[in-house]
Formats: sequence, C-alpha cells, structure tokens
Amino acid sequence: MTLEFEVKGGEGVSHKITADRAGDNLTLTCDCPTAFQGNICAHRLILLAGDTSLLMSGNPGEVDELKSMIAGTDVDQCMREIADLDSKIRSLSTQLDDVKKKLAISLND
Ligand SMILES: [Zn+2]
Repeated sequence: MTLEFEVKGGEGVSHKITADRAGDNLTLTCDCPTAFQGNICAHRLILLAGDTSLLMSGNPGEVDELKSMIAGTDVDQCMREIADLDSKIRSLSTQLDDVKKKLAISLND
C-alpha cells in the first residue's frame, strides 16, 4: 500500500511525502533537504502524529490511513518512545519552573 502527500514547506515551496508499507516495514520519505540529509523532518513528524495542518494534497483521510499503517512497525515503537520522552520533558520542564519559582521566593525573603 502506497500513500502520497504534499505538504507546505518553508518559503512557499511544497514537499512530497510517500508512505509505503510492505510486510511489517513502513518507509516514509520526504523530498525536503532535511530528509535528503538523512534526518527526520518536521513534515514527516507531523503526518506521523496525524496533524494535517500543513497538508496541501487534500487527502486528510489518508493521514488517518497512515496512522493505521504504522501499527506493528519499528516506526510505531519509535513514535511511542518519542511520545513518552516528550511527556517526560514536559513534566521536567514544569518541575524546573516550580524550582525556579521557589528559588526566586527564597532569594527575596
Ligand atoms: Zn520533509
């Protein structure tokens, strides 16, 4: 199964993203410079998260299909780890803010 998306890039350009699932392997490519360099780009991350805000190709229903294509792949595991770490970062950020507030109070009393 292959899906194709076009998403908004920077400076008025668009990028083509192609998703292909074969067996338990999902390949998701983007033609942007970041992906070309072998890095994860924001375009693929937001589609993987189900976000259609940059979608130009008019197929938001296929973004839902993409989410179902992820199930049982190594991409699924990575997305779970990213979500877990994002949650921990948010929690740590809140704890850090709280300690900084305590420090400010301690320094002023
Ligand atoms: Zn990209």
